[in-house]
Amino acid sequence: MTSDGHLELPGYAHIYSGKVRDLYAPRGGDGQPRADQLLLVASDRMSAYDFVLDTPIPDKGAVLTQLSLWWFEQMADLVPHHVVSTDVPAEVVGRGVLVERLDMLPVECVARAYLTGGGLGEYRSTGAVSGVELPEGLVDGSRLPEPIFTPSTKAPAGEHDEPIPFAGVVDEVGPALAERARDLTVRILERGNAIAQERGILLADTKVEFGLRGLELAEGEDPRGAIRARGAAAEIVLADELLTPDSSRFWPADLWEPGRQQPSYDKQFVRDWLTSSASGWDRASGEAPPPLPEEVIAQTRAKYVEAYERLTGQTFRS
Ligand code: ATP
Ligand code: MG
Repeated sequence: MTSDGHLELPGYAHIYSGKVRDLYAPRGGDGQPRADQLLLVASDRMSAYDFVLDTPIPDKGAVLTQLSLWWFEQMADLVPHHVVSTDVPAEVVGRGVLVERLDMLPVECVARAYLTGGGLGEYRSTGAVSGVELPEGLVDGSRLPEPIFTPSTKAPAGEHDEPIPFAGVVDEVGPALAERARDLTVRILERGNAIAQERGILLADTKVEFGLRGLELAEGEDPRGAIRARGAAAEIVLADELLTPDSSRFWPADLWEPGRQQPSYDKQFVRDWLTSSASGWDRASGEAPPPLPEEVIAQTRAKYVEAYERLTGQTFRS
C-alpha cells in the first residue's frame, strides 16, 4: 500500500484518491491507461467534520459499493448508469467496480425531501432554499411539500462545495442539461423514498453526480466549454455512488420527529463520540480527531450493514 492508502494494482494505473475512493484506469494492450473506463474503489476510510479519520470502518467500502449497485438497478428505467462490470482484481472484489469513464457535469446535484442541515440554515434566513420558496413554519426535519433541487458547486479537493441557485447550473451546463439533471435528481430521490419508506428508512436528501456519454472531446478541448456547446446532444448517465449513507442522509422512519435533529444511519456514532467529552477532542481546535475506540467502530459498521440489509433485503457478506 502507498502512503496515501491506495493499492498498487497490476494492470491498472492509479489516477486519483479522494477522501473515500481511489480511481484507477485499466491498462490497454499497449500498457497505456485506457481513456474509456475507470476502476472505482471504495475504501473503508471514514470522513467526519472534513477530516479523514485514522480509523477505518471495516467493510464500509464494500457495503457502500453493494448498495450503490443495488440502487443503480432500481433506477435503471429512469436513467442509464455507469457500471460496466463487477469483475475486478481480487484485492478489490466487492468494493471495486469497473465503470464507463464519463465527462462529469461540473456541479453536484442535490435534492432534498426533508429540511435540515445547510438547507435549514438557508430557509431560516431567507424563507427559500436555492431560490425555491417554501411554506412558513418549517422546522428541523420537516418534510417538504415536494422534493426540491438544491445544487452546489463541485469544489476542488480540500475546498467546500457552495450552494448555487438553479441559474448557476444553467450557466455551467446550459438550460437543457440543467433541467434534465434537476428532473432526474428529484425523481431519483422520490423513487428512492418510495422504496426506502416501506423499509423503515427516510432519505432526507441526497447528492448525485451525472456524466455525459458521447461528448467526444477534441484533443486539448476544454470540457466545460464543450459541455455548454454540445452537451445537450450527449447522453446523460448516472455516475459516482447512489443513495448511500455517504451521499445522503438516512433517517430511521420510526424515530422521525420534526423539531429536533434526527438520529441518522451514517456517522451518528462517530460524530456523537467525537463531540463528547470521552474523545477529548475540540472541534474548534483545528487539530485532527483522535482514533475511534473499538465499540464506536463496531457500532458504526453495524449501522452501515443494517442500512444495506434493510434496504436491499439481502444479507451482507464481506
Ligand atoms: P472528496 O470525496 O475527497 O471530496 P471526490 O468526491 O472527488 O472528493 P471521491 O468521491 O473519493 O472523491 O472520488 C470519486 C470521484 O470520481 C469524483 O470526483 C467523481 O466525480 C468521479 N467519478 C465518479 N464516477 C465517474 C465516472 N463514471 N467517470 C468519471 N469520473 C467519475
Ligand atoms: Mg465524492
